[in-house]
Amino acid sequence: MKYLYDYRQFRNTAHLFFIFLLLCPVPANSQSRPVCSYCGKSIPGTIISAGKSFFHPEHFLCAYCGKIISGGYNEKDDKFYHPDCYKQNEGLTCAYCGKLLEDEYIVSTGKKYHPECYEKNVLPKCSVCSLPLKDKFSVDIYGNKYHPAHSAELSKCDCCKRLICQNLTRGGKRYSDGRNICMLCFLESVSEQYQINEMFKKVISKLNSFGININGKNIKAIGVDRIELKKRSSSFSDNTQGFCDSETKSNFLNDKLVSKLYNHTIYILNGTHYLSMEATLAHELMHAWMTENCSEKLPDKIKEGSCNYISYLYLNSLSNSKKNDFIKLIENDPDPVYGKGFKEIKFGFENKSLTQLLAYLKAKN
Ligand SMILES: [Zn+2]
Ligand SMILES: [Zn+2]
Ligand SMILES: [Zn+2]
Ligand SMILES: [Zn+2]
Ligand SMILES: [Zn+2]
Ligand SMILES: [Zn+2]
Repeated sequence: MKYLYDYRQFRNTAHLFFIFLLLCPVPANSQSRPVCSYCGKSIPGTIISAGKSFFHPEHFLCAYCGKIISGGYNEKDDKFYHPDCYKQNEGLTCAYCGKLLEDEYIVSTGKKYHPECYEKNVLPKCSVCSLPLKDKFSVDIYGNKYHPAHSAELSKCDCCKRLICQNLTRGGKRYSDGRNICMLCFLESVSEQYQINEMFKKVISKLNSFGININGKNIKAIGVDRIELKKRSSSFSDNTQGFCDSETKSNFLNDKLVSKLYNHTIYILNGTHYLSMEATLAHELMHAWMTENCSEKLPDKIKEGSCNYISYLYLNSLSNSKKNDFIKLIENDPDPVYGKGFKEIKFGFENKSLTQLLAYLKAKN
């Protein structure tokens, strides 16, 4: 996403300065002596000629401050001004420092600024390098603005997608499987299997409370690195955070299907932020539910969109302000299956009960 600030550089050339035109004294009793536009009397000595009018030197007054003008002046609508008074009168003052503007100034969102005031104080600063953002800039989903060139220079956090740098994420780490993770995510990451087991129970009981019937006994979750996850999952991309491997055993009696038994193994990326991991677990558990309850022919977009919607509902149910980061990631996912699928399911079901979504998924072929 790129924006260009709406600002323009102006030159204050529309109103040029005029210099006094002094007419030399002519005989005092001449009939043709001009009359002062201020006092209406004839002008015996030095005559000031300005625009179409004449003045006694002591009656050539500034329309803004009322004091005598003796030097350059500006004219507008038959009125005369000291150059500085003219600027004041026309509102040519800096919206930041309040001082008069010079010939060159900046206009941005209807306000005028000295170029230096604008650059130093008004332009937003880059979240990465702190320098002003003069031209185009990029914005991440958290609203951080930065010079577009930083995207090529820096790695993105595999977990929260922020650019990894000191200012934004207090630095980061690189895992041996090639992933980069920012310090914000790393400090709240989960890697140990016992932590994953605890989390697994917590997420299952939350989904059960939503009305999604999952029996934790035939499902296990195993933390793996990205290399292992790639081996396990059937459709791996760099965004894959987990995979639900389901086995189905059909039991027949005299060629008649009598029961189906399911076993699921969820492989989940370890070393990610715990909220991201919980959201992924919710997503993969929903896959397990769909394997047991829905047609295999359900389109991927509906499957992934629904699983993401469950992650979204899961995160929303938490009372942790950090959840919003991970909700934003789901909401802003540009993927045509995961991101678009999520939007469609959310659009269709956010004003309905979850029971209605589950019924829809069960009925759909
Ligand atoms: Zn006069
Ligand atoms: Zn004045
Ligand atoms: Zn200024
Ligand atoms: Zn920068
Ligand atoms: Zn991160
Ligand atoms: Zn999925």
